[in-house]
Amino acid sequence: MSSREPFVFAEKLVAPGKRRHFDLPAGRLPSGTPLSLPIEVLCGVEAGPTVWLSGAIHGDEVVGVEIIRQVMQLVDAEKVAGTIIAAPVVNVFGFVTESRYLPDRRDLNRSFPGSERGPLAGRLARLFVDRVLSICDFGLDFHAGSDDRTNLAQIRCNLDDPETRDLAFAFAPPLVVHSKTIKGTLRHTALKLGKRVLLFEGGEPRRFSPKAVDAGVSGTLRVLRSAGMIAEAPDATNDVRESRNTKWVRASRGGIFRLEAQLGEEVKKGTRIGVIAGPAGRQGQDVIARMDGVILGHAVNPLVHQGDGLVHLAEITMHDGQR
Ligand SMILES: [Zn+2]
Repeated sequence: MSSREPFVFAEKLVAPGKRRHFDLPAGRLPSGTPLSLPIEVLCGVEAGPTVWLSGAIHGDEVVGVEIIRQVMQLVDAEKVAGTIIAAPVVNVFGFVTESRYLPDRRDLNRSFPGSERGPLAGRLARLFVDRVLSICDFGLDFHAGSDDRTNLAQIRCNLDDPETRDLAFAFAPPLVVHSKTIKGTLRHTALKLGKRVLLFEGGEPRRFSPKAVDAGVSGTLRVLRSAGMIAEAPDATNDVRESRNTKWVRASRGGIFRLEAQLGEEVKKGTRIGVIAGPAGRQGQDVIARMDGVILGHAVNPLVHQGDGLVHLAEITMHDGQR
């Protein structure tokens, strides 16, 4: 026996204990081929919160697509309290062209809340806000490093909001980074509508980075458990480090960059973390950490110009909630 009513999505009913697939029309390609936003709605058997899981807001960040797929496979609608709305590919236009952006070079994550009469990105943003975000209590938005960069699995969120902070620590990634929202982002719009949101970053574009996928799947299950939506989730095995200050170590010259440290490694101020040299290895110049911190991201393309961001460091302000 279910204690709840069917969930209404896009004017259709999803029965308690069931899931249903939707394709929301999102427009057409110049060829006339229709594009749609794939959405999976899982209506739990008991009443509870409604959560969204969004991936590929940047079309080439496929890590989130895989995280959402695995999470949706692991949860059983017969054992869920609440509703999960999975939107694994939000930027469908960028996804089919393996691009971060829309065909007009706009960034979907600077186009929220969008409008029905605006540019393509704004229309897509509006569709997501109206159909998904507006009917949810909270959400998780999955991203990867941009361009030729990879990121340690991390949550970026507003740590000054106690409820958001609790969600981030329930997720328990290796690193939580405090970040204010930028106008035009999904996160900014969500917060304005009173929705808590965690932004996950991990891995690199156009790749399934296994460590990032694992951290994303287990963290999402822990968040669902903490919200009382599922009973079981894998416990975290890592410390949760918290940062309120991140800085890029930039290339002092153009050349070929060799990283001598690893993602997630803690490095000390003044230590060498890599070297930039010419193609034959001559005139090598040390790359030095300018502060104590954890490597939260780095360039994966060894060909660098002066000024390029090489290694992204996070100063650790707390370990497992302790200063
Ligand atoms: Zn992104």
